[in-house]
Amino acid sequence: MYWEPDKECMDREELEQLQLERLQSTLNRVCAHVPFYRRKFDELGIAPEDVQSLSDAARLPFTMKSDLRDNYPYGMFAVPLREVVRVHASSGTTGMATVVGYTRNDLKNWSNLVARIITMAGVTKDDVIQVSFGYGMFTGALGLHYGAERVGASVIPASSGNTARQIQFMRDFKSTALVATPSYALLLGDTLREMGIPVSALSLKWGLFGSEPWSEAMRKEIESKLGIVATDNYGLSEVMGPGISGECLERNGLHFNEDHFLVEVVDPETLAPVPDGEVGELVLTSLTKEAFPVIRYRTRDLVRMLSGECPCGRTGRRMSRVLGRTDDMLIIRGVNVYPLQIEHVLMEIEGTEPYYQIVVDRKGAMDEATVLVAAGESIFFDTMRKQKEMVDRIRAKLRQELGITVEVKLVERKSLQQFEGKAKRVVDNRKL
Ligand SMILES: [Zn+2]
Repeated sequence: MYWEPDKECMDREELEQLQLERLQSTLNRVCAHVPFYRRKFDELGIAPEDVQSLSDAARLPFTMKSDLRDNYPYGMFAVPLREVVRVHASSGTTGMATVVGYTRNDLKNWSNLVARIITMAGVTKDDVIQVSFGYGMFTGALGLHYGAERVGASVIPASSGNTARQIQFMRDFKSTALVATPSYALLLGDTLREMGIPVSALSLKWGLFGSEPWSEAMRKEIESKLGIVATDNYGLSEVMGPGISGECLERNGLHFNEDHFLVEVVDPETLAPVPDGEVGELVLTSLTKEAFPVIRYRTRDLVRMLSGECPCGRTGRRMSRVLGRTDDMLIIRGVNVYPLQIEHVLMEIEGTEPYYQIVVDRKGAMDEATVLVAAGESIFFDTMRKQKEMVDRIRAKLRQELGITVEVKLVERKSLQQFEGKAKRVVDNRKL
């Protein structure tokens, strides 16, 4: 099922011609209205009219999150504020927030692109869609909300938090689709069990999850606990929000909405393009945005581009799920460690749950990492010997996967952290 079949299944040649025209017009607009880009283009000695093919995009300057921060709040806007009808900001956990804006036309495009993603994930106007993302400055909730209304589904703006109430909404309102972070979806599934509510008491069919990296094993776990078909979707506030790419029901990679975004994958060190199939940093250029266009935005998300056609008939190229973030990468004793690697290990070990947190400290010149792992309650009634066996098993598996030795501590899930927004996977005390 398609939302806009003529766009989603567009002939590649026609699509690339459209991308080029839209790229040229975007470049003209940013050079005319955003001093940051005019300066960057001047420094590189490149003008918008020098871009005559899509491959010329490789000559354009990159945009970094720090550029957005340096131009806080409105310096990167390409239209006067009176044309902006919505402002969002991304979280400021790693420093000052970055601010993005939308014209009326941007909002129309955005909800339309989210409508494509929702439709490709199985949701129709007959569904009741519960949005359990936190509403507010974060683009996830309102992005999905408007897209779901566009499709004609019944939207329940539940927002995040208050898990017992979320479950009551699901039962009473007969929600058929859940929008959440994967870690929150898992928490909902576990809470259902604790409350003794069988999945059959709910009407859930679909789960649309995004905004944090998750593994295939985690998908299976969530699907069985909630009795749903779960799909992944991708977006980030700096580029638009959700609606940039999403999985169709083949669930074999996330299709990009390439008529609105130019997609590149580069080596995060050398910035050279990497071939399809190899891991690199996703770089996105907006092709239609009016208020807040971005040129070659470095997303920090590590992905692989997948080759080959998708049986669903969409021609938009696909990326793998996000394999990690360059920001999340920890260097522990000189070894690169991604939180998702730890999730993979935990999913393989009976009796553990994929709730975890890595705590890194420095003792003298040595990094010391401890992985706090949530274990099922029963383990705490076991003998010390049994608990130690499990710790040893996890430690050995982690050593295999990560290539370094880390300490492992079993904790109760509730002591670990709040899962009502995005999971906090890493506590790095070395920076303090
Ligand atoms: Zn597909």
